[in-house]
Amino acid sequence: MSALIEFKGFNKFFGSNQVLKEVDLQVASGEVIVVLGPSGCGKSTLLRCLNGLEQAQGGELHFAGQQLLAAGTDWRKVRQDIGMVFQSYHLFPHMTVLDNILLGPLKVQRRERKEARAQAEALLQRVGLADKRDVYPRQLSGGQQQRIAIVRSLCMNPKVMLFDEVTAALDPEMVKEVLEVILDLARGGMTMLIVTHEMGFARAVADRIVFMEAGRILEQRDPESFFTHPSSARAQQFLEKFSYVESLPGKASHARAEAI
Ligand code: ADP
Ligand code: MG
Repeated sequence: MSALIEFKGFNKFFGSNQVLKEVDLQVASGEVIVVLGPSGCGKSTLLRCLNGLEQAQGGELHFAGQQLLAAGTDWRKVRQDIGMVFQSYHLFPHMTVLDNILLGPLKVQRRERKEARAQAEALLQRVGLADKRDVYPRQLSGGQQQRIAIVRSLCMNPKVMLFDEVTAALDPEMVKEVLEVILDLARGGMTMLIVTHEMGFARAVADRIVFMEAGRILEQRDPESFFTHPSSARAQQFLEKFSYVESLPGKASHARAEAI
C-alpha cells in the first residue's frame, strides 16, 4: 500500500541552524505514529512542516499523492485535510462552544449550517460534552477546552490529525479525559502523528514509535520493542529518565521529560 504521508530526505533550517536532517518517514492511512525525543529535537517542527506552518528547504513531502513542497500548493486546502491541535487551545472567548466549532466549517468550508451543526453535535456527544454546546470557553476546565479544540478540528473532516503535546499544559487530573478522546480516534482508524510525554499513553496508542534526536530519526519501531529494547543509546537514556520520574511516588500518571 502506498503511504498517505511521506517525508523523503527532508530538511529544515532556521537560519543556519538545521533542525530537521534528512528525515525519511512514511505514514500509512490509519496508522498512529508517536514522535518521541528530547526537548528541541525537532518534533514540533516536523508536525508544523506537514501542516505548512513552517517551510522546508529540501527534500520531498508527499501527502495523498501530492508533493507539497512543489510550487503552487494550496496550503489552505491542505490544512483542512491535516488538522492540528496544540498545547494551547485558543478558543475564541466571545463565542460559544458551538460557534467556535462551526467557524471553520461555515466560513472556510462554506458548508450548510444545519449539516455542520449536526456533525458538531455528534462530535460533542462523542467527547462527552454535548451539554456544553451553548456555554463560553471560560466556563470550561482546561481539559474540556482541549476536547472542544479537538472537536473543532475534527469537524473539518480531516484525513490526518496532528497532536503536539496537547496535555502538557493541563492539570494532571484532566490529562486522561483528553488522551481518551485520542485513543477513541485511534480505534476509529484516524491517521495521526502525536507528540506526547505521556509514555503509558504512547505505548498504548502507537502503531509505531519514531524516536528523534537533534533533527534526525534514530529509531522507528513498534512500541513494544521500543519500550522494552530501544536499540540506540540515546533512546535508552531518554527512557531511563522517564522510569526515574515514574518511580517517584504520585508522579506515575504524568511523567514528563521536560520536567527533568
Ligand atoms: P521539539 O518540539 O522537539 O522540542 P522544536 O521543533 O520546537 O523541538 O525545535 C527544534 C529546534 O528548532 C530547536 O533548536 C528550536 O530552538 C528551533 N526552533 C524552533 N522554532 C524556531 C523558530 N521559529 N525560529 C528559530 N528556531 C526555532
Ligand atoms: Mg515541541
